[in-house]
Amino acid sequence: MSLVMKERTEPGELKLLKMLRDRGGLLDESRYWNLEKGYQGEVLFDKWFSGLDGEWIVVNDLLLEHAGSLFQIDSLVIGENRVYLFEVKNFEGDYYLDDGRWLSISKKEINNPLLQMQRCEMALRQLLKSLGYQSPIESSLIFINPEFTLYNCSPHLPIVFSSQMNRFSNKLLRQSSSSAGRLHERHSRLAEKLCELHLEKSPYERLPEYRYEELRKGIVCAGCGGMGVHHHYRMVKCEMCGYKESVDKALIRSIDECSSLFPQMKITTKIIHEWIGQIISKKVIQRILHINFKLIGHGKSAIYVIEKRGLTSSNR
Ligand SMILES: [Zn+2]
Repeated sequence: MSLVMKERTEPGELKLLKMLRDRGGLLDESRYWNLEKGYQGEVLFDKWFSGLDGEWIVVNDLLLEHAGSLFQIDSLVIGENRVYLFEVKNFEGDYYLDDGRWLSISKKEINNPLLQMQRCEMALRQLLKSLGYQSPIESSLIFINPEFTLYNCSPHLPIVFSSQMNRFSNKLLRQSSSSAGRLHERHSRLAEKLCELHLEKSPYERLPEYRYEELRKGIVCAGCGGMGVHHHYRMVKCEMCGYKESVDKALIRSIDECSSLFPQMKITTKIIHEWIGQIISKKVIQRILHINFKLIGHGKSAIYVIEKRGLTSSNR
């Protein structure tokens, strides 16, 4: 059984990019697709790991700092006598190694993921040492996508391909059971400490510029992400995919979207009415705002305070 001390959540930046994309606010979608693909790969890995026997403490998605530099860990697993570091890649297609360089089949060089992992391991080792832990670290670069091939690769590199995952889990199990596999308090203390040290990165830092006026107004369909949503009695219905949602739910989602994309904006009935393309009446919007959000001020100067939810992964 593995105990997950820190769950993985969808990165805040990815959520914001998705919102921008739905409303036509993304000229370049490459970062969005990279983040989305990477996240999907990590979710697949989590699913795979959760099916593993043995005793483990899992700490996902850590951003740590040591000696002034930041390093990110996709998945850290604490076992009885060692710490596992997993770097998960969801690459697809054919790549090859050429004298330490990583190239796609069309000869485009990519960042060396092994180097990235080794740097991470080094920083983690120093950090653990400074916390009084000397456990050995075992790092693995996991290529989770079965459509990935790496030519010219030595079998001695710490790489696990999709086709090797079953054998890899047997190896992990053997390591866990050969040490009687008991986790003690010091293991959970280490996990807690790492969660405490985790840094929260602002999801807004790397976003492209966007303006309220330039984003498409309306309600984004929760089914297909399109903007063909119409009001129909107490429901909204998408004319593209047929997805139906209650007016209340669609409104709360839209309000959340507006306040996430524009955290400085004063949320009023009028703004939301405009944001959703005037599909739903101001009276209904006001009711929803009133029930679900906190009102500050009176009359025309009244604004609603939206609590930020789910944008950044919380500290446990
Ligand atoms: Zn739809």
